[in-house]
Amino acid sequence: MLALGVGNIAFALLMAGYMRGAENSPALGYWMWGRLAIGLAQLCWWIAPQFEMRLVEGLSACVWLGGVALEVGANCLFFGFTRWRRSLYLLTLPGWVTVGYAVATGASRLQLTELISFIIALSVFGAAVVLLRPREAPLLQRIIGVNNILFALAIWAWLGFEGGSPGPGLTSMIALAYLASYLLMIVNGFGFLLLCKQKDDELMRRLATIDGLTGMLNRRAFFERAEGARMLALRLRKPIALLMLDIDHFKQLNDSFGHACGDEALRVFAGVARGVLREHDVIGRLGGEEFALALPGTTLDGALDAAERLRLAVTALPVIGDAPGYRMTVSIGVVVIGGGEELTAALARADHALYAAKTSGRNRVEAGAPMLKRA
Ligand code: GH3
Ligand code: MG
Ligand code: MG
Repeated sequence: MLALGVGNIAFALLMAGYMRGAENSPALGYWMWGRLAIGLAQLCWWIAPQFEMRLVEGLSACVWLGGVALEVGANCLFFGFTRWRRSLYLLTLPGWVTVGYAVATGASRLQLTELISFIIALSVFGAAVVLLRPREAPLLQRIIGVNNILFALAIWAWLGFEGGSPGPGLTSMIALAYLASYLLMIVNGFGFLLLCKQKDDELMRRLATIDGLTGMLNRRAFFERAEGARMLALRLRKPIALLMLDIDHFKQLNDSFGHACGDEALRVFAGVARGVLREHDVIGRLGGEEFALALPGTTLDGALDAAERLRLAVTALPVIGDAPGYRMTVSIGVVVIGGGEELTAALARADHALYAAKTSGRNRVEAGAPMLKRA
């Protein structure tokens, strides 16, 4: 019990240190306070019989239950089950009342231990349900969930044995219950930290690759993905088309109706483009109102068709937001990347075609000049 208490407090301190320097989720805060409460309760529980302090036992049992509720609450918060979290705290109340009643009626230390163990196993089982509920839960989440279930089963098995006569069976059950508690502390402790880190990493990855306004790939991510698609097409000897697209007279929209309206137009365009393109087409916002598209497995004719579909879909858009006089149109330059041609060289050709579309009156699709053969 001493080892469990010290371990849990160490986890809480570690977490407090980590949280000081970083921007973190509220779930982490709940989890830290939960761990601290559990650790302190375990220490007091361990100390109490040395000084024959019955009241301390009762109080630490209540703090323990509160700590477990906070920890399960942190899981609910982490996975977005905010409603469950509130009902969970309400469920802690009957736990406290039961513990209070047991202490008042002179329940023995063993009976009190059994009572808390039962309630904790129930809460941990609840947390396991939260963790294992999503069908595509990541492996880490599953490991923690399964560990929680094993803990609950070990505790219930021990409680089942407890009524029987003392002997090697009971001793091994007690050892199993302690082992399960230790595993719960370690696996859940590190596991929850890693889960939070995994979520933060995913957020960072999104921030680094996705354009915040349109939800499309940003410039860097587009080049990375398009280059990957180009290499694959080259290996499979399949064509891959590249499009450069620019919204026409966008500055006018901004100047006449405001920047917010321009932003809305960019979001609307992104939605249209997603609707017209196939799932494995790559589209990115290169900057401002300029976009690039890579269409794997598409010939020049196919790409010209796709570009024309996109152009018509944009032209067919209803009036955007608060811009009554504005009808969005786009100009598009289309090329097929030549075998061995660099992505940037193909983009330059597509950009030339886009320029031709602009100078020939806008709201048009133009095919680029063929790739220059090397001497
Ligand atoms: P053209 O038909 O020749 O393409 O003319 P244009 O007005 O669309 O092109 P220009 O390059 O002159 O103007 C682009 C404008 O896009 C200027 C800039 O203020 C605006 N812009 C760039 N990024 C954003 C953005 O994130 N939001 C908004 N609202 N406007 C942006
Ligand atoms: Mg423009
Ligand atoms: Mg432009």
